[in-house]
Amino acid sequence: MSKAPDIIIIGGGHNGLVCAAYLAKAGRQVLVLEAASQAGGLGATREFAPGFRASVAHTLPQLRRQLVDELELERHGFSLAQEALATVALSADGRHISVAGGELHGASAADSKAYLEYARLMQTFAKAIDPFWRKRPPVPGNGNFRDIATLGQFGWKLRTLGRTDMREMMRMIALPARDLMDEYFESPLLKAALSWDANVGSKLAPRSPNNALIALLYRMSGDLTGGLPMAAGGTGGLMNAMAAAAQGYGAEVRLGSPVARVIVEQGQAVGVELSDGEMIRAQKIVSNADPKTSFFKLLGARHLDIQFTHRIKRLRTDGYVAKLHLALNRLPAFTGLAPPRGRLILAPTMQFIENAYDAAKYGGYARELPMEVLLPSLDDSSLAPAGQHVLSAQVQYAPYGVKGGWDTHRDTFLENTLASLARYAPDIRDCVVASELLTPVDLEQQFGVTGGHWHHGEFALDNWWMNRPTYGASQYRTPVPGFYLCGAGAHPGGGIMGAAGSNAARAILEEK
Ligand SMILES: Cc1cc2nc3c(=O)[nH]c(=O)nc-3n(C[C@H](O)[C@H](O)[C@H](O)COP(=O)(O)OP(=O)(O)OC[C@H]3O[C@@H](n4cnc5c(N)ncnc54)[C@H](O)[C@@H]3O)c2cc1C
Repeated sequence: MSKAPDIIIIGGGHNGLVCAAYLAKAGRQVLVLEAASQAGGLGATREFAPGFRASVAHTLPQLRRQLVDELELERHGFSLAQEALATVALSADGRHISVAGGELHGASAADSKAYLEYARLMQTFAKAIDPFWRKRPPVPGNGNFRDIATLGQFGWKLRTLGRTDMREMMRMIALPARDLMDEYFESPLLKAALSWDANVGSKLAPRSPNNALIALLYRMSGDLTGGLPMAAGGTGGLMNAMAAAAQGYGAEVRLGSPVARVIVEQGQAVGVELSDGEMIRAQKIVSNADPKTSFFKLLGARHLDIQFTHRIKRLRTDGYVAKLHLALNRLPAFTGLAPPRGRLILAPTMQFIENAYDAAKYGGYARELPMEVLLPSLDDSSLAPAGQHVLSAQVQYAPYGVKGGWDTHRDTFLENTLASLARYAPDIRDCVVASELLTPVDLEQQFGVTGGHWHHGEFALDNWWMNRPTYGASQYRTPVPGFYLCGAGAHPGGGIMGAAGSNAARAILEEK
């Protein structure tokens, strides 16, 4: 970059890269400073054993065609290894139920019929709420015309659902996932699999009185293929394309450049200091880091009022998902599923998920663990040596604050995970040549995310929309002029979606 930057972005996770790309495309001089040696944050593809590669985030349910087109990501190298993975509710006896192409396979006639109405309703609700993920949240009572319009549009969208669907949506909005599933379906296996997306990534389980509907609808916010897509080269393939797009529009992406602090002068953010002491000034500083890191480690609480500081301190940031990567010398034999293609949900009942959650609530973990499993190398041979495979699993629940610490529990947790997998793939242990278990503490240490939390902070009704991460910072601006947020801790939340990054870029560009 020949000129001094107008805007510095701290963090080259996907939201930082998307924010950089939109700002650079609009003519701003942008500098991205990423701590790691690779861009993409939790989306980066890394080699976890010689010749075997995986990314923490493994599927792209929330990615939108509009973002891919606007940033010309395909021209910059993005492609899919899979357009529509089926979701398979795995049964130890081989009698699986799968969801593919908008219908159920292997389910009872009653469940298959109920699914059609369930899917219709979910899609209707998802469509109604969808535009608001990609808009700045309103701040009630601030008199801003755009915010009033957004609130009006929200009310109107609900009203146009029609009286019956609108009432249903309002009723279901905070329903526990268990109640929602019990209302529609009879198969315990199917209910467990369909409730998975309402809870994964948060401190929630099927019985939690929570935001089952909002979380489900959020996971349905993508439209790239109409199915569950997976990027070629792992999610890192998408991250590389985002970095290339940002650079193509003129942004500079500097890797291995951890920012130590934001420089504040006379109450205004004016630059950053890197860990090696280098200082760089800019008009605006945007943080892709999580809110606690952004406000406490980078900015410093002394620049914030006490009430705001308390609200950020209270954000629930303890992660509950561990990530397991297995290097396999051959394809394991999953009972009744050859090849084991799809997003495999290993949870026989909702009560099974609840039991695992109960243990984690008190700092422990279950002997049998529910998980979401993918074998991405089935569709992307670049991820493993020829004839060999990678298994990628999101394992719930692994509490960040496990009693006694993860150094004590790592081996037992890994053993419990392998034993849980072996119920479905009895030869799994014979196939494993190497493994990587990333607990929430590992995710925090290796990816710089407080608590290793999927969403950088709970995705829950009290921390949603105009309260994300909290009021006073919900429109990407923060109480310190010149300092902005653009990561998953801002609206709309986590998941590989780029919405926080693009919304933040828009908010910055709209300023005078
Ligand atoms: C176990 C797990 C599995 C997941 N699976 C999926 C999935 O399958 N699909 C999906 O859509 N989502 C998934 N997610 C969620 C998704 O990965 C995240 O929500 C998303 O990556 C957040 O993107 P981000 O750009 O906001 O932040 P991050 O990806 O966290 O990026 C933040 C970046 O900021 C950098 N940074 C932090 N501090 C500094 C500093 N001081 N100086 C410089 N750089 C800094 C970090 O190094 C990092 O690169 C998963 C999350 C977890 C934890």
